[in-house]
Amino acid sequence: MMGRSIKHCRACGAAVTYRLPDDGDTRERAICTVCQTVHYENPLNVVGTVPYLGERILLCKRNIEPRWGKWTLPAGFMELGETTSQGAARETQEESGATFELESLFSVLSVPRVGQVHLFYRARLLHDRFDPGHETQEARLFSEAEIPWDEIAFRTVKETLERYFSDRRRGQFGVHTVDIA
Ligand SMILES: [Zn+2]
Repeated sequence: MMGRSIKHCRACGAAVTYRLPDDGDTRERAICTVCQTVHYENPLNVVGTVPYLGERILLCKRNIEPRWGKWTLPAGFMELGETTSQGAARETQEESGATFELESLFSVLSVPRVGQVHLFYRARLLHDRFDPGHETQEARLFSEAEIPWDEIAFRTVKETLERYFSDRRRGQFGVHTVDIA
């Protein structure tokens, strides 16, 4: 079950207990046993890009857990104060050091099991020189035939790449909504 990870009140530090709030809410929440503050837990947004240069796609080899050594599209948790596209651009810059122009939204993937929503934008790379940050061992371009499908870090990345290549064959890119059970 998702949630139930809060142990202490963020307002006063006392223990919390999970119970229904008194306001008619139908979900159990972490409620402080001392100051009664209700702590809500909601899904997190992961934002990233499908960076492409001609026929090739940029993938990053992860230098962090989870999935150390596996390949991923550049993506990460959205920060407060930024838009989804700003977050996608920032994560792409941080993880690959690529120079690119952000294009339109491509995929929205719900992963209720872990309480996340992943959003990927297409990004047109301006050249093939990369400067990956510490979270990435290696950043390199792959043709469709070279994609290491068995070494892809996350299901959301695999689902996005499959739709990207499918759309490219059709010659038209849509916006894909995917529910990952
Ligand atoms: Zn409290």
